[in-house]
Amino acid sequence: MSYRKIILHKGKEQSLQRFHPWVFSGAIKVMDSDMKDGEVVEIYSANDQFLGMAHYQKGSISGRVLSYRKATIDTTFWIQKIQKAFDYRRFLNLTDNPHTNVYRLLFGEGDGLPGLVLDYYAGHVVFQAHSIGMHMQRQDICLALQEVLKDRLLSVYDKSSETLPSQYAAGIQNGLLWGKAEDEVIVKENDAQFYIDWIHGQKTGFFIDQRDNRELVGKYASGKRVLNTFSYTGGFSVYAGLKGATAVHSVDSSAKAVDFCNRNAVLNNISNHEGFAVDTFDFLKEKATEYDLVILDPPAFAKSRDVKHNAVIGYKRLNEMALRKIKKGGILFTFSCSQVIDKYLFYNTITAAAIEARRNIKLLHFLSQPADHTIVPTFPEGEYLKGLAFYVD
Ligand code: SAH
Repeated sequence: MSYRKIILHKGKEQSLQRFHPWVFSGAIKVMDSDMKDGEVVEIYSANDQFLGMAHYQKGSISGRVLSYRKATIDTTFWIQKIQKAFDYRRFLNLTDNPHTNVYRLLFGEGDGLPGLVLDYYAGHVVFQAHSIGMHMQRQDICLALQEVLKDRLLSVYDKSSETLPSQYAAGIQNGLLWGKAEDEVIVKENDAQFYIDWIHGQKTGFFIDQRDNRELVGKYASGKRVLNTFSYTGGFSVYAGLKGATAVHSVDSSAKAVDFCNRNAVLNNISNHEGFAVDTFDFLKEKATEYDLVILDPPAFAKSRDVKHNAVIGYKRLNEMALRKIKKGGILFTFSCSQVIDKYLFYNTITAAAIEARRNIKLLHFLSQPADHTIVPTFPEGEYLKGLAFYVD
């Protein structure tokens, strides 16, 4: 199989040699004029040194490296890559765990496949392509999943219409790629149970990235009045309820999410749960109640560098309002999934909020994403979830 070539400007090979997998458009010196979006190409340095195999896509990131060695990108290639991702999850004790059957099977650049996310829900894999090249390869990826997962695989559902750039998403329909469709599945995460609806739910259906942090909240929840804001389907709420919280209040602006949250509470036999379909800011302003433990897990306030400053103001305001609601001796769990806000900026922002709210806080934990949301040092952009737990005086 022969692939067409992209040649980089002198000096622009360095990031690839350090295994950072992106080729920016400005780095390209020569390429064919009719290069097709999604096609597999070979990348070369200005002095003709082979650098990698990549998916080409017009845009500021024009190349996403799939392999730093010459390779034929065929079914065998996909099987090897997905096997590697699976073996890592097996090492993490996620693949055959009687207590947990929901995990991220493959996380893009962290697992050497930029543009691809695969989430596993008790046998059902939700496929999300972020690049058109990955989407074009969905059938091969599907075959590889069958080969690697064998009878652990029941279905594969393509949910790429929300993650592909808009010019490609327009012509694409979400739908079943393989296996038997199922309307709703119940998964287990550390023995807590959740209904998952990947077709209508947000992202791939569940925020798998909070697994470890939910477990930690569970450890502090006993005997506490808990407020879980931006609760979605109630991940944190269920753990708090199961671990003996005296009351659990969930707040989300989406009525559909609150419905799910209530159903998940019932599914886990939690009787002291109440859901509120309101804006978190309004809830914190208007509701007079105090809480022992408050969780803040908002959607990304900054989706790009340009709005970083506004995001910092948003995080500060939200955390200040929450800190005022926490009883003396209480706990705040606060998160940011904005990639452009790094952990130190986030820490400083919460510190500023505490000063404004006139509360003394003590750092209990620096939190991050779990290991199946793979972080590699060669791709720092992959570290996006930050959390802090504070004791609040
Ligand atoms: N903590 C959740 C995930 C949170 S995702 C979990 O563990 O599963 C963010 C949620 O915030 C979404 O469900 C979204 O509907 C909700 N949301 C966004 N803006 C909001 C607002 N202003 N007030 C309340 N909820 C909001």
